Parts: sequence; C-alpha cells; structure tokens
Amino acid sequence: MALPPVEAGTAHGCQSEKGCEGLSLSKLDFRAMAQVAVSVGVNVQPGQRLMIMAPIDAAPLVRQVAEAAYAVGAKSVRSWFADDILDKVTLQRAPEAGLKDFPHWLAEGFAQEAAEGAAFLSVVGSDPDLLADVPPERTAMAMNAAQEAMAAFREHIMASRVAWSIVSVPTAAWAKKVFPGLSEDRAIDQLWQAICKASRIEGADPVGNWKMHVAHLQQRADWLNSLEIDRLHYRAKGTDLTIGLPPTHLWAAGGQANAAGTQYVANIPTEEVFTLPDRLRVDGTVRSTKPLSHAGQVIEGIRLEFKDGRITSYAADRALDNLKELIETDDGSHYLGEVSLVPVDSPISQSGTLFYNTLFDENASCHLAIGRAYPFTLRDAQDVTSDEVFMGKGGNVSLTHVDFMVGAQDLDIDATTRGGKSIPIFRAGGWAQPL
Ligand code: ZN
Repeated sequence: MALPPVEAGTAHGCQSEKGCEGLSLSKLDFRAMAQVAVSVGVNVQPGQRLMIMAPIDAAPLVRQVAEAAYAVGAKSVRSWFADDILDKVTLQRAPEAGLKDFPHWLAEGFAQEAAEGAAFLSVVGSDPDLLADVPPERTAMAMNAAQEAMAAFREHIMASRVAWSIVSVPTAAWAKKVFPGLSEDRAIDQLWQAICKASRIEGADPVGNWKMHVAHLQQRADWLNSLEIDRLHYRAKGTDLTIGLPPTHLWAAGGQANAAGTQYVANIPTEEVFTLPDRLRVDGTVRSTKPLSHAGQVIEGIRLEFKDGRITSYAADRALDNLKELIETDDGSHYLGEVSLVPVDSPISQSGTLFYNTLFDENASCHLAIGRAYPFTLRDAQDVTSDEVFMGKGGNVSLTHVDFMVGAQDLDIDATTRGGKSIPIFRAGGWAQPL
C-alpha cells in the first residue's frame, strides 16, 4: 500500500509547457473523482476537518473536493500546495544544512491535526523523472529529514488512527512520460481516462461500485486469514523467495477503520490484499518486474538477496545509486515491511498501461515493500505500544516504506500453513482458486 509523499523533495507535478496555472487540467471534469475521494477515500464525517496536500496543478480537483466535502458536512477544508520546480531548485541549490532543515512547526501542525481527528487527502501527479539530474544523496538527505520530522504524523497514518487517502491528477509531465508519442493535451486526456478507469471512477454510481469492490477484496483477505499461513514461497524467473509471516499477521484489503471507527480507503485505486512479513524470516532472491519511480528517478531491474530477513546484496539495471540511498536509509530499510498480492488479471494490469507511479503500478502487480510495516496488519495491533513491541511481534521499523513490483505471468506462490499443509495461492500470476 502506498504512503502519502513526504512534504519535501518528492516530485509533485508541474512541468507543463504552458506553465503551472493548471490550464490543461481545468477543462477536465473532476466531480466524480472528488466524490469518491470524499465519500470513499477519506470518508469525511460531519463536523470533521479535511487537510489536502496537492501539487499546484491539482487546484481544479482540490476545489471540487472542497465542494464535495462541505456537501457532506465537513467543518473546514484546507489545502497545502507544493510546487515541483521549487522543490527541484531547492534540491539543486540549497546548502546541505538547508536540505536537512525541515520546518518543525509544520510537522507538529500535521501531528496536531491528526491527534484532533482531521482527515488527510494527498493528491499525487509526479513527473517520474523530475529529479533525474539531482544527486540521489541530496534527495535522500531532504527526504530523510522530512521523514524524521514527520514521524509522529506518519505514525497516525501507519497505525490507521486517522482516515487518509491518496488520489491522483494527470499532470503534463507525468502524462508525457506515460504517453510519449502524444501531444501534451492528448497525453493529459489519455492519462486522465486511464486514471478514471483504473480508479473505478466510471458509471452512474462510482461510490456504490466502490463499496462492492471493497467488500469483494475483503472476502479474499478473509480467505487468506482463515488459512493461518506460516510462510509463502515465491517462484518466477529470477525469483525464489521464502517469506515467513508472524503468527498474528492480518491480511488487510481496500478499506480500513480509523480510531473513530470510520471506514476509509487509503489508496484510490486499490486492488491488493496485503499483510506484513516476519522481518527476520525472509530468505532467497527476488527480481522486480516493473520500473519503480522513487525520489524523482526511475529504478529498473532490481535484484535483491535476503538472508534471515536482511538484504545481503542488491543490484539494478538503472538508477542503482537511487536504490542504494533507499536501502541505506537506516537499518530497517534492509528489511521488508509489506507483502501484497494482486493478480495479473486485475483491471489495471489488464490495461497494459505502465504508469510510472506506484499508486497504480503496485495495484497491477504483486509487490513487496522495503521498510516500515503497517501496525494494523497485526491482529493484536492494539498491543503495539512501541517500536520495540512491534519488532518483537515481527514488524519492521524504518523511516521509509517503498513498494516495488514482483508480479508476473509466471509467478507461482505456495503457502505452508502453521499446521504444515501446503496450499497453492497463486498460479501463473493469478489466484490459484476462485473465491
Ligand atoms: Zn506499501
């Protein structure tokens, strides 16, 4: 599951040939997306505050979200806009002391909003190559400073105490990356259609359709939970990996409930069922099957080796320096924090579109995440009172959480249950058995 981007050094997207006024986007109809973001994504409750983090290009969507939020009784809607170009200038030009200097008042403000029960919507639309010519160690410096400062806020998110969600807009630079052969306007139109289809923002009743979709995903999670799996074995070209699961792991899907009991859907789209691995029981090798857009660069051809949970060697065909910065973030970034299953016949996968955006690409493919695990993927999450307790239950702790794709047409996955029974989970990239 994708986390919202941190506030500094992450690509939010305006690199339009026409400037940053959101001209091309202002003619798109964002009403259905706004409805789904408000009523399914963060599920705004009467009297609640809504905070929106978005690229400046996304202003037309953000205004529609505000309309939809007030219509269901929101108390207030506030936006925090980011500008790609400014972030890039900062990453290129600021002294190192400046890159490490994240405003603490801002981090504390977000944590306070979370503690007071606000809902948080992130809008993403990164140019996947925005930071291609920025040294990865400078990007990593700024991202790590932001992650450290925002730790208290992130804990509200990762522990599912607040309702949060991520949706997307088709910014010009992103659209041109996905559809390089088209004019800017046509690429934006095409990407918007692909986003709407993938995000199930279609038909007369997208909110009703989403409720059915989430219930269907939950049935799959219920089935996996009934199996009491001890470990999973992945086999595909370049992959032979065993992943142990903690005894109290919980398979989650689409919707979660926050501390107030409000159901929300953290990622729009979502097609996954996921849990956490036992951080010390991952062994073997795994190969990535799709490019990974991370920290403004595209990493391709990732190969990782694991022993007792730890990454013992890594390689990549492209942007190896970027992968190195990710894995060397801290000790916990040498371990996995998420195991997620998505069949190759998911609608996003079937579309054949490579989005260069994890929110979409991870929902077209089985994936794993390097870094921190979500505490709510434990049945006894209520007992997790500290990082030490979480690690004792098999959970991983890190500043980072980055999903990478490992699904393919030739992927088989078998489970061994705690009772020692072997059960086929995936065959040829899809579920081995229907529900
Ligand atoms: Zn994830």
